[in-house]
Order: sequence, then structure tokens, then C-alpha cells
Amino acid sequence: MPLSKKEIEALKRQIETRCAQLRTEVHADADKVRGESYADLAGDVVDEGDASVADLLADIDSAELSRDLTELRALEAALGRIADGSYGSCIDCGQDVGFARLEVEPAALRCIDCQRLYEKTYAQPDRPKL
Ligand SMILES: [Zn+2]
Repeated sequence: MPLSKKEIEALKRQIETRCAQLRTEVHADADKVRGESYADLAGDVVDEGDASVADLLADIDSAELSRDLTELRALEAALGRIADGSYGSCIDCGQDVGFARLEVEPAALRCIDCQRLYEKTYAQPDRPKL
């Protein structure tokens, strides 16, 4: 069943709330990565062991940051699809993604069948696309 106007409105609000939350997190993460935590940790490094802990923490923060940014971009793209009317249709088969699925994953691009197939086909996300 295609999404009703009411369902789209509800999902849109959900996405906007999550986007605002993510933007706050991204800013906090970016400050953390740029600023104090790394400088403090690395500032009075006494041996190599401490240095690698500092490196590790910086890496973890960046991974968190890039995860948040990826989610934020996906949600912003979903808002774009709501605006142009393509939201809720599977990008692979054109069927309805379904309200229940979108409620859990509002940025979903595919219906659950196509998503499973996609994940099976692209099981290694780091594989270079040639
Ligand atoms: Zn599909």
C-alpha cells in the first residue's frame, strides 16, 4: 500500500527530529575530534603505549562521526525524496517500501526483499567499485 499523507507527515517529523539530533551529535563529535580530547590525551604522552591509546580514541571518535554523517546524509536524502514525491518507493523494483519498514528505518531506499538481495550482492561494503 502506498503511504498515506498522514504516514508521510509522521515519517517526515521523525526524520526531522533525528536529523536535528544527529546535527548536535556531529557538532559535538567534531569538536571532540578536533579539540580537547585528542590534545589532552596526546599532550602529555610519556611512552608509546599512551600514544597509541590516544590514536585509538581519535580513530573511534572519527568512526562515530562518519557514521553519524552517513546517517544524516541518508536522512536528508529521504527528506528530498519526500519533497519530490518519490519517497516510499523501492529504488530497485518500484514497489512500496511499506510504512512499517520506514518507521523503523525512515531512510530505507529499498523494500525488504531488494534490501536482502542488495546486502547479499554487496556483502563487502569496502570492496572497490570497478
Ligand atoms: Zn524492491
